[in-house]
Amino acid sequence: MQTRRTFLATAATAGTITILPFATRAGGHSPNEFKTDAGLITVNPVSHASMVLETPAGTIYVDPVGDAATYDGMPPADLVLVTHEHGDHYVPDALAAIKGDAAMITNPAVAGMLPDGLKPNSSNIGNGETTTWNGITIEAIPAYNTSENKQNFHPKGRDNGYILNFEGFRIYISGDTEQTPEMSALENIDLAFVCMNLPFTMSAQAAAEAVKAFAPTYVYPYHFRGRDLSGTQDPMVFSDLVGDASEVKIASWYS
Ligand SMILES: [Zn+2]
Repeated sequence: MQTRRTFLATAATAGTITILPFATRAGGHSPNEFKTDAGLITVNPVSHASMVLETPAGTIYVDPVGDAATYDGMPPADLVLVTHEHGDHYVPDALAAIKGDAAMITNPAVAGMLPDGLKPNSSNIGNGETTTWNGITIEAIPAYNTSENKQNFHPKGRDNGYILNFEGFRIYISGDTEQTPEMSALENIDLAFVCMNLPFTMSAQAAAEAVKAFAPTYVYPYHFRGRDLSGTQDPMVFSDLVGDASEVKIASWYS
């Protein structure tokens, strides 16, 4: 039986659905805060695939797109992570607006596209590689399509998901992917961000199956709005299907 380090989260029992207001609830903690052995981690969902994680190691911007005003009120980035080159994840002008002196870690393909202004403090890791930043180990998890007719979207070997290893608390960010053997083999994930959105990644049903295979303690469905609005990428459907396997966190990604 695997053991997880003890940590206190501010949200309720496993299996419940938490509807998240963006602002901190009066008198309480934001449901987007996680108390870990390393300290407090706050999740700021920005939109679609973009998020800002306030962590004991620094503020981490993940796939930040939009303009500088999008990030008003958030601490400046200490680290920027980019999963892959698509326009909902990598926008050079957005990075130029928010990166400043922050470190940046990308997949190799994006590293090869960076304009000169974004190269300082930038590095890259490929699928299966790890690096460290401010004392945390960061792993690049393969993100790719497994369906035969979707290979052109995210070909195997190019794009990254990431795991951030804080003391006693592992965060997995899927990037754009379908369920892969590498994802299913993940262990001891405390907090996961798992993509949906057809035709490019997963349906709600596929994402729920993928999540149940590695059963993170908490999971945020993200990246769920796109071309197909038929309901097959509905986060509430996802939540019902995940059931008690993980506590589903529904956040305002598209407000
Ligand atoms: Zn995407």
